[in-house]
Amino acid sequence: MKQTVNLDNFIGNPRIVEVLKRAIEQDRLPHALIFAGPAGIGKCTLALLTAQILNCLSPVNNSACGECSSCKKISATLKSRNLPCLSLKGEGFCGTCENCRLRMQKHPDVRLIEPEKTTISINQVRELIDEVAFQPFEARYRLAVLDPADQMKIEAQNSLLKTLEEPASRTVIILITTNPYMLLETIRSRARLLQFGEIPRETIEKYLISEVKMTLQDAQLSAALSGGSLAAAMTFDTTCYREIREQAFRFVKLLLKGEDFTNASSLAAQAAKDKKSFVTWVDAVMALLEDIYYAVTAPERIGQGDLHDKLEQIARNTPRGILVSAIDAVGNLKRELQYNINRQLALEAMFLKVGSP
Ligand SMILES: [Zn+2]
Ligand SMILES: [Zn+2]
Repeated sequence: MKQTVNLDNFIGNPRIVEVLKRAIEQDRLPHALIFAGPAGIGKCTLALLTAQILNCLSPVNNSACGECSSCKKISATLKSRNLPCLSLKGEGFCGTCENCRLRMQKHPDVRLIEPEKTTISINQVRELIDEVAFQPFEARYRLAVLDPADQMKIEAQNSLLKTLEEPASRTVIILITTNPYMLLETIRSRARLLQFGEIPRETIEKYLISEVKMTLQDAQLSAALSGGSLAAAMTFDTTCYREIREQAFRFVKLLLKGEDFTNASSLAAQAAKDKKSFVTWVDAVMALLEDIYYAVTAPERIGQGDLHDKLEQIARNTPRGILVSAIDAVGNLKRELQYNINRQLALEAMFLKVGSP
């Protein structure tokens, strides 16, 4: 059976999907769009699906056929995104391995522009500007997706202004960003901003169970800790997380009781060893505290159902004031993490602060 492509199967952000569908149906897509919102919720996917629907050679009722040469090339771009070269392992592209060959099946009129190394260079933008000055080769629409657009340096952004101002007809430029305010005001004023939101936890849960075949418990845990990102939820390592969480849980129990500083300090020292896993550890502490908070007020919102009874027991034995001040303190710690803080000292200070009235 033919697998057609339309926007109805896109997970999350139904309002934005509706806006795009209507614009496609009425053939009135703005020539410059900003897709803004959290990472991993499918902004780039939606942009490329839009490209596919606009350019399918044998569309059926505003759906792309998924089979024609145009559909195949665009879906190759979609699939090869984030795929590393198999022989050079992220150190460039060999051009011959399976992933590289998929990557090269580009559609001449649909371009995904990603950073070379860390930025989207002014040369990449100039190339794009030259391209979009012409009518599309084989497509009805020429589409360029810059992801993430905020990785353009200011001079690169400036060079794009004129193209956004006076685009060639049937050209759509989509700028993808987690934060539209990292784009120049002059860029923002020339583009239509679509602000994406997080995907609701229940939606992610359902998807993980039905499409990824996760168990209910794993799906609940992944959805609860993915920050509304489907991509993060799909790649969430529940086994590794459960190990980190076990340690975090021991710390949380001491934190809420406000006793046994020595033990808490040695847990803090262990957690602080590695910066990357420390971030996960702090996230786990926060997720546990939040679930303890929900255990009494809104049990249906508990993300870590596997711990339900333990969480509830702690909730019953913890004064609300302590819990709230612990959540507050961990929130502060999370913000401080973006600076180069001494992780163990920060944890110990937090412990003493929550413990003292
Ligand atoms: Zn097609
Ligand atoms: Zn390769």
